[in-house]
Amino acid sequence: MSLSNGRRYLAIPGPSVMPDEVLQAMHRASPNIYEGELHDVTASLVPDLKAIAKTDGHVAMYIGNGHAAWEAALANTLSRGDTVLVLATGAFCKGWGEIARELGVHVDTIDYGDAAPIDLDRFAEALAQDKTHRIKAILAVHVDTSTSVKNDIAGLRRVLDTAGHPALLMADCVASFGCDRFEMDAWGVDVMVTACQKGLMTPAGMSYVYFNAKADAAGGDCVTGYWDWRRRIDPDDYYQYWYGTAPTHQVYGQRKALDMILSEGIEAVWDRHAALSKAIWAAFDIWSQDGPLRLNISDPAYRSHAVTSCFAGSPNGDRLRAWCEHKAGLTLGIGLGRTPPDAYFRIGHMGHVNAQMIMGVLGTIEAGLKACDIPHGDGGLAAAAQVIADLG
Ligand SMILES: *Cc1c(COP(=O)(O)O)cnc(C)c1O
Repeated sequence: MSLSNGRRYLAIPGPSVMPDEVLQAMHRASPNIYEGELHDVTASLVPDLKAIAKTDGHVAMYIGNGHAAWEAALANTLSRGDTVLVLATGAFCKGWGEIARELGVHVDTIDYGDAAPIDLDRFAEALAQDKTHRIKAILAVHVDTSTSVKNDIAGLRRVLDTAGHPALLMADCVASFGCDRFEMDAWGVDVMVTACQKGLMTPAGMSYVYFNAKADAAGGDCVTGYWDWRRRIDPDDYYQYWYGTAPTHQVYGQRKALDMILSEGIEAVWDRHAALSKAIWAAFDIWSQDGPLRLNISDPAYRSHAVTSCFAGSPNGDRLRAWCEHKAGLTLGIGLGRTPPDAYFRIGHMGHVNAQMIMGVLGTIEAGLKACDIPHGDGGLAAAAQVIADLG
């Protein structure tokens, strides 16, 4: 007998669940790439991508994943020998810093560890020491997918302004975009990178680099023609040719996903993610009362609404994941970048996710905890159900 046959659920923090509507929108013959509908659809993405980022700035579209957007953001603003400050709260900001290093940029890092947000006071001290304004850009991840911490990006802007420091503020919103509240202009973010396969609910392959006039003026000698963001915001030049074949089907998929987000309303999308996260946390609050389980981020104010990282003890993280995967058809995220990785697991709850899916994930985890003999407090699922009942 197998209890895993049936529709499987990929509850990892990206790629996320692709809505049937998005897949159907992509299921078509290749369009004419020289003229017609594809150009109109491509152009229509721009105002909507800006609207959900709450920005009047530019957005450059790349055929590439989040790593491509990371590199594009840096290449367009920095020169070899420049310095950036990486505010690391997990594996992802360090990864972004690694790309900077490979471009020939000097990387300073403040490492806040794997279970805490960026500490604004330590950031302020680092800026105060940089009297010559050697630091050209601050690299921060809004939600670090490895630790599930959510950082105070608006707080970074306040610290920069208080210090009178001119560094660009760059935010990685690959995991958080379309899940956690983000307001690019109000929060004073100069450059933001995201990709299509998480909260934007489209199969991986497109990424977006948002930037304002200050970032555009920074210049930098790292950029090469293909990655130049200016070419990618000029409709006549770019929408037609994309510097190569357009990512035809991603464009149609992204259009449909944006339609879904806009018809729900971005505020309602954020509220849904917040409510479902509360249900997850409620289950863990009970499960952690006995045994090894604990949420990686203890303060709810700094927990992501897109992904949840949990410590389960080594090798319980891997044992639980294996049980859920093979016995129940639920794929949970690995303990990416953690030591030891088999002590952790992650739940992706970004994008096309509703209450019954979250209750299914939590119910399966509770069954897995019992099957794997991992001690845990009794009644986690009931606590989650109460949250859903109260908020729904
Ligand atoms: C997924 C992710 C990335 C990397 O995106 P890829 O598309 O896998 O290259 C970068 N940053 C964060 C926060 C992510 O969650």
